[in-house]
Order: sequence, then structure tokens, then C-alpha cells
Amino acid sequence: MVSSKSGAKTSPQFWRPATRMVHGGTVRSGFGETSEALFLTQGFVYDSAEAAEARFKGEEDGFIYSRYANPTVDMFEKRMCLLEGAEDARAMASGMAAVSAAIGCQVKAGDHIVAARALFGSCRWVVETLMPRYGVECTLVDGRNLDEWKAAMRPQTKVLFLESPTNPTLELCDIAAIADIAHEGNARLVVDNVFATPILQKPLELGADIVIYSTTKHVDGQGRCLGGIVLGSREWIDENLHDYFRHTGPSMSPFNAWVMLKGLETLPLRVRQQTETAALIADQLAQEKGVSRVLYPGRADHPQADIARKQMAGGSTLVAFELAGGKKAAFAFENALSIIRISNNLGDAKSLVTHPATTTHKNLAPEARAQLGISDGLVRLSVGLEDSADLMEDIAAAMAAANLATA
Ligand SMILES: *Cc1c(COP(=O)(O)O)cnc(C)c1O
Repeated sequence: MVSSKSGAKTSPQFWRPATRMVHGGTVRSGFGETSEALFLTQGFVYDSAEAAEARFKGEEDGFIYSRYANPTVDMFEKRMCLLEGAEDARAMASGMAAVSAAIGCQVKAGDHIVAARALFGSCRWVVETLMPRYGVECTLVDGRNLDEWKAAMRPQTKVLFLESPTNPTLELCDIAAIADIAHEGNARLVVDNVFATPILQKPLELGADIVIYSTTKHVDGQGRCLGGIVLGSREWIDENLHDYFRHTGPSMSPFNAWVMLKGLETLPLRVRQQTETAALIADQLAQEKGVSRVLYPGRADHPQADIARKQMAGGSTLVAFELAGGKKAAFAFENALSIIRISNNLGDAKSLVTHPATTTHKNLAPEARAQLGISDGLVRLSVGLEDSADLMEDIAAAMAAANLATA
């Protein structure tokens, strides 16, 4: 163990999570800056032709080109590895760049993917529409049903893909059990962990092989920059993602990586606070007349409360609920809110409300929406950092307006 004279542990792997999020991965330049330096540069210069040759041969460590790696992006990747307990990572320009790279880098024509049906819309397009164009077949299953996962496995199955909690109905997949199914079939489990956040759920510890984030959401946490990241073992990244990433170019901008680094410093605080407020709001909504169903993984009445307890360290920063008055009530509710804003985004310091059936999930056929439980009365709320009492008053007033509109 690396300890200083005072006895303090000086090596990041011995730090507790909050300390890792403030200091992990930091490399200071010769100026000794306090805050992480922003290396806004495309390329790097070499002291000699021999040095350039050695760098390209891999005989000498150092940066070559920011599509491959950049010091600021590198700090962000290292800090995320410390948070997730991963050996290695590649930061990307958006969550979707991360999802398509994580899947695309490890399949070829003839391979097969099994994915949960309840996926973020663009993720579903990648596995259901894009991959078959390249000869990679995909079977969609009910992510809650382990028998469906097992039955979908084929000798050609290479990747299992899921998100948990799902968007927008906050259903859960049993990550440990699905990882076992993947490994029995020599396949890998990829988990999109955006809705859980790295604070509330650790897929790698549960047996998943690869974890993906849209860092656009809670990691930035203040609605500024797009970003994504893929984390996994060094071996998997070396063999699958390394070349794909270098040559297809989904890299994260150093500026965005710098914003994300600052976001990580406050991530544990924000997620804890947002989860606490979301739990209060879920309980409030369950008492409201006009609300027919509340979906919150932290509540005892969640259909999979046992799985939530098994794999999550807290409820969620999101709450989903159904208004008995359907679309009319949902629209009246949204329009009557004054602090909570209407948006399709989530994970922001600002509370945001979404009507999935007419926005994020409008491209699904009505039958597909019904299959996923996305009714016209379903509302998704991403809880921010405002005072919980203000949010609860805003919700109570809007609920009264919704009930009036549908009375
Ligand atoms: C937002 C989101 C994505 C896509 O991320 P972008 O940064 O918008 O590209 C993927 N998966 C889930 C679950 C998301 O919420």
C-alpha cells in the first residue's frame, strides 16, 4: 500500500469513492494548476524524428493525435475507471457513439445479438435496424423474463444488451442472472447504465462485461455537453475496441472531457440529493388522486422491488407515473408546471418532465408502445437539484390542474 508519512493513503485505488471523483486521474502540467488542465489540441510535437518514430512504434509512451487519445480526455477516462472499477475505457462524443462502438466493434456478419426490447429509442434502432444491414441478426426479448433471454441464445450469439432501469417505465433487468446466461453461451453482456448512474449501480461487479454511459446525463449533470464512455477489461478493449475507436473516430472533445471531469467532482453529491428528492416525489405521487400507477425502483410496490434491492444502492433520480386521464391529463399536467420544465433530456440539475408517447417514443408503433407499457397517460420526471418542497408544490398544483382538465 502506498502511504505518506502521515499515514494517508496516496494511491487512488485505496481512496473512497468521493475522493476518487475529486482527485482520480489528475495529471498536473509543469505549472501546477489546481483544476485539471484543458489540453485543447489536435496533435502533439516530437523532439526529433527518432522520437516520432519511437512513439509510432509504441516503444515510447506519449500522445500522438487527439482522435486516439488526449491528456484531458485521458484524465476523464481514468477517473471514470476508478468510479466504475473498470480496467480501461474510451470516452466518446455522445452516448450513442459509445453504444454503437461498443456493439459494432465486437460483431461481424453471421453473429447474433440478444437485446431487451425496452431500450432507449436510438439504442433500439442500432440493434434492430442498423446491425441487420451488416448481417448481424438481433432478437428482442422481454428483459424481465430470464426464460426469454435463455431461449433466444444461439451458437452465434456474441452480445447481450440491456439497460436497467429502462427508459421510460423504470423496469429492471436482473443483471447478475443475465450475465450468467451470456457467459454460459460464450457471449458478453453490455449494460447501458445511464438510468442507474454509476453511483446507484455497478454492472461490472454484478458480472457484466462492458458498461456504457451517455455522460450527457448525470455525469455532466448540468445540461451542457454531449458525451459517452465505454468501460471494460483491458483485454476486451485491446482486442475489440482499440482499433475500431482509432479508425472510426467517435472520440470525445477535450473541452467536453474537461466539463465531464468537473461534473464527476460533484456526481456523488448530486445523485444522492436527486435520489432523495425523487423518492419523496414518488411517495407524493402515489397519494395523488388522478395518478393510477407510480413506477419507482425505490418503492416497495415496484413490480421488481426485490431486484432493485439486490442490485441497486438507491431508487433512481427518475420517477415514472401514469395519469388516469390519459394524454389530456398528461398535457394539462405538463403545461401547468412552473419550475419543472418540459424537455426530453434527463439527469440535469433542472427538473425535466417528458411525455414519452408523443416525444421520445413516438416512432414506435402503437402496439410496440403498448407492449412496453408506454400509455398515453405515462409521464417521466427527471428530478433535479431544486428544493424538494418547491418541486412538490409545483407537482401538487399541476396535478390539481390536470384533474380539473379531465373532470
Ligand atoms: C441519452 C441516452 C443515450 C444516448 O446518449 P446521447 O448522449 O444522447 O447520445 C443512450 N442510452 C440511454 C439510456 C440514454 O438515456
